[in-house]
Amino acid sequence: MQEKNLSVNNFEQCIKCTICTVYCPVVQVNPLYPGPKQAGPDGERFRLKDPFFYDENLKYCMNCKRCENACPSGVKIADIIHSARRRYSAARPTLRDRILAGTDFMGKMARPVAPIVNAVVRTPVAKSAMDSVLKVDKHRTFPEYRMKGFISWFKRNAAREQSGYENQLLFFHGCSTEFQHPEVGKAFVKVMNALGWGVQLADEKCCGVAMISNGLWKQAARHARHNVKVLSKPGLPIVATASTCTFTMRDEYPDILGVDNSAIRDSLTLVEKFIYELLDEGKVKLAFKPDYKARVAYHIPCHMEKLGWSIFTRALLGMIPGLDLTVLESGCCGMAGTYGFKKENYNYSQAIGKPLFDKIKAISPDFVTSECDTCKWQIEMSTGVKVLNPILILADALDLEATARANEKNRPND
Ligand code: SF4
Ligand code: SF4
Repeated sequence: MQEKNLSVNNFEQCIKCTICTVYCPVVQVNPLYPGPKQAGPDGERFRLKDPFFYDENLKYCMNCKRCENACPSGVKIADIIHSARRRYSAARPTLRDRILAGTDFMGKMARPVAPIVNAVVRTPVAKSAMDSVLKVDKHRTFPEYRMKGFISWFKRNAAREQSGYENQLLFFHGCSTEFQHPEVGKAFVKVMNALGWGVQLADEKCCGVAMISNGLWKQAARHARHNVKVLSKPGLPIVATASTCTFTMRDEYPDILGVDNSAIRDSLTLVEKFIYELLDEGKVKLAFKPDYKARVAYHIPCHMEKLGWSIFTRALLGMIPGLDLTVLESGCCGMAGTYGFKKENYNYSQAIGKPLFDKIKAISPDFVTSECDTCKWQIEMSTGVKVLNPILILADALDLEATARANEKNRPND
């Protein structure tokens, strides 16, 4: 597949209103960062004249896209910043950056010895060594690896019956579901089967977002081309549970990596939007447990804001009779994938997330819900409150047998 510059470098649309700077979480806490207006459209004018004007402090951009959401002129600020990093930065990814970006590889290495890896990275000695040698901040906690991943569970317990469903979809599970949180994938399969949809898997690779963040552009583009190829092949709707994977494959592939994703973009969606639209069209029904009760706070991840799809999660969770939902004020948690792991970013990361952490602690919900796993890691570490993907809440709140009966027309032809 041809790689080309599909991005729109529309810096000339900037009307210099500075609203983007008001909404940038990094510029509020880090005086070294020039801010979206300076780093984006203003800086681009200079860089195009002479690459000498490239500023390595652009590395502090978290690519949260809050500036782009705020811009009244539709300037692709974060894309301009990341394209500049790709074109001009002289900094090369360090060993730390390669480890953090290699989510697939690290997951495969850690899996056979997961209990040992999980125990070792918790020890003060290991934390100090990672801090001083790799520059991974010693205050950071790590998500636990699992010995048994989602794919092996799927093959053993679910794969055989999937083709019997009348409707079929392709599930993009992502690295964290495979290596750290297989319960998310299990819940997805159970819910979709109860709705009468069979689940297929593709030979997917990591969406590449961590590679983009860490400057591994060529590797990220390779993953992008692979994913476009394998996900487009079956011609099925592609449904994911992670907002950042979804956003990356829909928008970053062409805008930052120059990879043509037109074969998958329109059929790639998030499970909350997918289910909501099926309900809206009268194609499926939900039956909830009468005794389900929970106080839940919804944290909208930055990339979910950019997708504009949080309305579907809110609407779906709002249908659960016993669920008391608080939608938290929109704000970045400060984690931004691998950003918050890095020693040079840790304090900024925690300062950015503090208003969110304080709010969650004040509300003290039974749990928080969010579609992003790295938001989950950050919030759990910083507040002590459990964070669940919305599909886990749905799977728990639904009476799956009653839901399956209500959608009987789509059940396996057994
Ligand atoms: S993407 Fe986020 S961190 Fe980067 S400039 Fe925009 S608002 Fe700031
Ligand atoms: S918000 Fe948009 S138009 Fe306003 S300064 Fe920033 S980039 Fe320019």
